[in-house]
Amino acid sequence: MTTYDWIVIGNGITGAALSYELAHVGFSVLLLDQRDRPPSATRFSYGGVAFWAGTTDATQRLCQEGIDRHRQLSDELGVSTEFHERDLLMPVFPDDDLPALTHVYQRFHPQPTLIDRQTACELEPLLNPEAIAAAFVVKHGHVHPEKTAQAYNYAFQRLGGQMAIAPVQEIQTHQGKVTGVVTPTETYAGNQVVVCAGGMSRALLHPMQISVPCYFSHAELIETPPVDFTLRTVIMPANTRRFALEATVEQNQHENLWDEAGHEIAPPILDAGVFQFADGHLRLGQISRLLTDPHAPVDAAASERQIRAAIAHLIPALDGVPGQWHRCLVAFSGDRMPLVGALPERMGLHLFSGFSNPFAFIPPLAQRFAKSQAGEADPLIESLAPSRFKEQD
Ligand SMILES: Cc1cc2nc3c(=O)[nH]c(=O)nc-3n(C[C@H](O)[C@H](O)[C@H](O)COP(=O)(O)OP(=O)(O)OC[C@H]3O[C@@H](n4cnc5c(N)ncnc54)[C@H](O)[C@@H]3O)c2cc1C
Repeated sequence: MTTYDWIVIGNGITGAALSYELAHVGFSVLLLDQRDRPPSATRFSYGGVAFWAGTTDATQRLCQEGIDRHRQLSDELGVSTEFHERDLLMPVFPDDDLPALTHVYQRFHPQPTLIDRQTACELEPLLNPEAIAAAFVVKHGHVHPEKTAQAYNYAFQRLGGQMAIAPVQEIQTHQGKVTGVVTPTETYAGNQVVVCAGGMSRALLHPMQISVPCYFSHAELIETPPVDFTLRTVIMPANTRRFALEATVEQNQHENLWDEAGHEIAPPILDAGVFQFADGHLRLGQISRLLTDPHAPVDAAASERQIRAAIAHLIPALDGVPGQWHRCLVAFSGDRMPLVGALPERMGLHLFSGFSNPFAFIPPLAQRFAKSQAGEADPLIESLAPSRFKEQD
């Protein structure tokens, strides 16, 4: 039986990028996903690259590396990621606290510009002027999320990487060291295993009595077929409630609840965003819920009505647009920084998940992680180790 240097669990954007970078530095790698085209966060993402959203030395550095990497990634991988840059328009609603938002946006680099309602509607003529008070605008990167993962997969396989469709049921260990993974039909041997299972990462590690500060929200959105009008901008509310929702998760207060089904950590939120892809189709929404059961039932009809009402108020042309409601899980960490590195509970076991600015940070961090595993010391990677939370306790 082949023993891989690395087994990567999950082929969303995290696993796709990391498997490629590990193969690129010379490791033999197996990449596993439970399904072909699963309903993952990567499948339903907007694919925005918020390279302006760094607020610390480390995050500004990662944002710069992220945008530099995206600008040349299609050439390197040999397949287009559909990367382009576009205006991101962030409406301020009449009941938002504009001075507080202005203070928040002053921390970013480059800083989004505050524009009045009329200028915002000139930039995006489909906006309802009655719905907004003002807006912030900034240049935003953009990729097609699934095509970016597929581009990584293509280049990974060209480097000799192996892919298989099989749900990982168990991570095997012997005497405290990882030996491989078990799927319903096969056992694969590996010296190192990295969990890139997004919102399912926590559940995958739980049977090993490993608790990681990796949580998940249930995200709900509507995807439309191509429409016959064109949005000039990407639209996301200035007051992004998803980040405030994630910030309500305090590790010590809620930790035990996350391993039991049936809890709702905080009330749901709705962010009325809209993104149009190159072929004209749109993704609308999103509602985020902190339900501790990854398979919790959700009232799809009520959720769809709520998203549609908010979007139609903002962009009347989208009232009644045909579309399909979807849901998925989105992973996040306890401090808005990713969880990247070894899990000290088992030798050879690693986590690469919990990103709050994933499309900006994953390309540089996947590359840095792979190089660090090949022997290049990297203090930034070390600072993101999941064990940082244990050190705080
Ligand atoms: C509507 C929406 C809009 C978004 N917009 C943006 C945006 O503009 N910019 C941005 O940066 N981010 C955005 N995000 C967030 C971003 O899409 C996600 O954080 C990111 O795609 C997560 O990637 P991932 O690889 O961690 O997880 P996922 O994409 O969920 O992938 C995890 C994979 O693991 C697999 N898996 C799970 N368990 C197992 C198992 N036991 N065995 C094998 N495989 C397994 C799953 O099948 C899945 O394919 C958005 C998300 C949503 C929902």
